[in-house]
Amino acid sequence: MMVSLNDFKNIALIKINYRCNQDCIFCHEDLINLYDFIELRIIENYWDAFDDYKIDTVLLSGGEPLYDFNSFLKIVSYFKKRGLKIILITNGTLLNYNRIAQINKMIDLVYLSIHSFNPRLDYKLTSKNFLKTKLINLELLLKLEVPVILRRLVFKDNYSTIDNEISYIFNKYKGIEHFWFELGILENKGKKLRANYKYMFLNNYEILKIINSLFFKFPNVKILIDNIPKELLSEKYQQFIDPISEKFRLRVELNNVGEYVLERVKV
Ligand code: SF4
Repeated sequence: MMVSLNDFKNIALIKINYRCNQDCIFCHEDLINLYDFIELRIIENYWDAFDDYKIDTVLLSGGEPLYDFNSFLKIVSYFKKRGLKIILITNGTLLNYNRIAQINKMIDLVYLSIHSFNPRLDYKLTSKNFLKTKLINLELLLKLEVPVILRRLVFKDNYSTIDNEISYIFNKYKGIEHFWFELGILENKGKKLRANYKYMFLNNYEILKIINSLFFKFPNVKILIDNIPKELLSEKYQQFIDPISEKFRLRVELNNVGEYVLERVKV
């Protein structure tokens, strides 16, 4: 099982469906629950671009990619047949032991999103009571040695508990090689978030304070950052930047009229 994040070289981000079983107040997707799974023939249109960009990894996102597990398995085996590595982004609610055992041999890395460890806040953020399930699935993934990045957005409502959560998590999973914790700075993306939740965003001063304090308090645990504002990017933080997000070469996703389009990402 691969454990180095640097082994993923050239990545295509593919939004494979737009169905989701959560209703997060910070959802960045405006098309949630409007569209079904991507048809595989659409991907066939893009194989040339995959070759041009030497794509070796697909990052499967959504919606919730596991919303229809059988369609998900079909898509994964399709990419596996092309020899591609697979990264999955999931909200972690639709996994169980059997499913993890099934995907274990096919998936190279899982981003599991848990944005608060407090059940009440988790409910407020996602409109669902799935926290327990997500935590059990995190445990199962690690037990079955699936490499995991525990992804946590940072915003006004949930940043005060980060220290306690990191201590708890890294004490619990001490010594596990294939485990990282990621702080995703909340982006101003998606109509829902822009219209209703402006108060959630942290300013640059607050972001810097959080990051500095974390790296001072936890110098030896594997913490990554994603979406750090460009103006805050200094030498000091370079080593913490999530190497995956640096390597997107192509994106395949729906446009605002519901057609799948391929975008080439400049490098
Ligand atoms: S889990 Fe992801 S896709 Fe689903 S509602 Fe939440 S942010 Fe949107």
